[in-house]
Amino acid sequence: MTNKGIVIVGGGQGGFQTAVSLRAEGYQDSITIIGDEAELPYQRPPLSKGLLSGKQEARHAMLRPAPFYATQRVELITGQRAAGIDRVGRAVTLASGQGIGYDSLVLATGARNRLLPIEGATLDGVCYLRTVAEALEIKQRIDLAQSIVVIGGGFIGLEVAAAAKAAGKSVTVIEAAPRLMGRVVAPVVSEYFLQTHAQQGVSVQLNVGVAGLRGSSGKVDAVLLKDGSVIPADLVVVGIGVVPNAELAQSAGLAIGNGIVVDEYLRTDDPSIFAIGDCAEYPNPFAQARVRLESVQNAVDQALSVAKSITGHSVPYEATPWFWTDQFDIKMQMTGLAHGFDTVVTRGEPEARKFSVFYYKGGELRSIDSINRPAEHLTARKIIGARTSISPEQAADESYDLKSAVAKN
Ligand code: FAD
Repeated sequence: MTNKGIVIVGGGQGGFQTAVSLRAEGYQDSITIIGDEAELPYQRPPLSKGLLSGKQEARHAMLRPAPFYATQRVELITGQRAAGIDRVGRAVTLASGQGIGYDSLVLATGARNRLLPIEGATLDGVCYLRTVAEALEIKQRIDLAQSIVVIGGGFIGLEVAAAAKAAGKSVTVIEAAPRLMGRVVAPVVSEYFLQTHAQQGVSVQLNVGVAGLRGSSGKVDAVLLKDGSVIPADLVVVGIGVVPNAELAQSAGLAIGNGIVVDEYLRTDDPSIFAIGDCAEYPNPFAQARVRLESVQNAVDQALSVAKSITGHSVPYEATPWFWTDQFDIKMQMTGLAHGFDTVVTRGEPEARKFSVFYYKGGELRSIDSINRPAEHLTARKIIGARTSISPEQAADESYDLKSAVAKN
């Protein structure tokens, strides 16, 4: 048995940040990150943006170069899976059988792609995007493909579609729901993205399910839709959501809901085990509900919160959620959580390609999306963070200075 101190399972955004924040908070003992990917910790947003467009290389996604870990006295174990947790003995067992003892354990195991449960899903040319290796493979395949079908009209599917279209390919997006990104944005935003993709030449098909994937000689050649139509495809990218990696926690007897269940300090029902990022379900004051979020902000801020708890400065986790997506020339920034909104107000004109959308629930401002309005979004984030409200009339009135709402607080 080796190590003790803090053991972090998962060498992604949240795991990396936990180690960095622990050192920043003055933690002096041993820190070990166990990651099952071969690479140094990297960030995922560039995978569906700069890497696919060719504007960035894999090395640009790396969070820090190798010497950083030695300088910070962080032991980084890559390419090894944590296979079990002995809660009584306080140790993690690697798949190799090696045991690593901990004083506190942080689970930052992320999420994995939901797989398409249909015939043909394992044909060559059917790809998913989560890892840098998958991004590089998809980029190579986009370069060689003629007709690309993206299954799923969420953020990642649409970012892939935009990159493939920008590479001059024929691109079709298939979405089973009636609108794009329908789980998280208002109809006016879905419509704006639909129009933009259509103007760029992406064919978007809504309200239609996928019946199967057809192949020849083991390679995909078409997507079969439930309405009977057949769309030729030499590359299919599936982006239909993720499943939290909660099995390690589950097999250790920790509570599982929509992810690993934690309290407002991101602690599991074992006081020496925390869970953060995509794998954790926690009580969120903005949603006024327990949620599991999938964003860089969430992973980074939760890591900082856990580092504070471990170093004796616990405060409940209440950071303002924010997220972004880049598609063609659109940068959309989102802050707050729109869950269950009942009223939507638009500030500015979608036709002008720059506008913001305010989401209300029961008269309370819950979240704001800004499309190509980065300066306004900075104020939006402050408004949501301060939990101040502005009336729907003020939100819609472009002559109303949003900054005055924050200045009052
Ligand atoms: P991850 O970064 O996924 O890290 C988890 C790590 O744990 C992985 O390396 C996993 O392999 C490893 N692991 C799991 N189980 C074990 C085990 N048993 N032993 C060892 N290691 C294990 N968010 C945004 O805010 N904006 C964006 O624009 C954006 N774009 C994205 C684009 C793509 C293509 C993807 C995939 C995600 C994007 N996200 C974006 C989401 C964001 O990257 C995630 O929310 C974030 O990475 C979550 O961090 P995490 O540490 O929880 O999980």
